[in-house]
Amino acid sequence: MTIAPDIRCPCLSGEVYAACCGRYHSGARAAPTAEALMRSRYSAFALGLEQYLRGSWHPSTRPDSVDLDDDTRWMRLDIEDVRRGGPADSDGVVRFTAIYRDADGGHRLTETSRFVRERGVWFYVDGIHA
Ligand SMILES: [Zn+2]
Repeated sequence: MTIAPDIRCPCLSGEVYAACCGRYHSGARAAPTAEALMRSRYSAFALGLEQYLRGSWHPSTRPDSVDLDDDTRWMRLDIEDVRRGGPADSDGVVRFTAIYRDADGGHRLTETSRFVRERGVWFYVDGIHA
């Protein structure tokens, strides 16, 4: 799947895709913070990038496959709280709400996600749904 580099990034940062999550999806660089990884994973869900979702999942919790529903439309991401997760930290917590629509209508998902950084690379570990 080819994604135009000049589309607005699905994470709604206001940047174009290539200057935002696209850099991480392509492997051109690693997400520098837990929040950046969180945003790139949201964008990967929106764009259906299963390989990126698995690769950014910590090996200890990584699922064999990620269930991506073609009917799901990811509408909006709000980052609500960030603890640690900076370039010098080894772990971080990001609380967010994602709004999406599927065949059943609109949904709101609030999750507190845990991230760890190993050898300079951030990984998603797990999340607790509010
Ligand atoms: Zn983005």
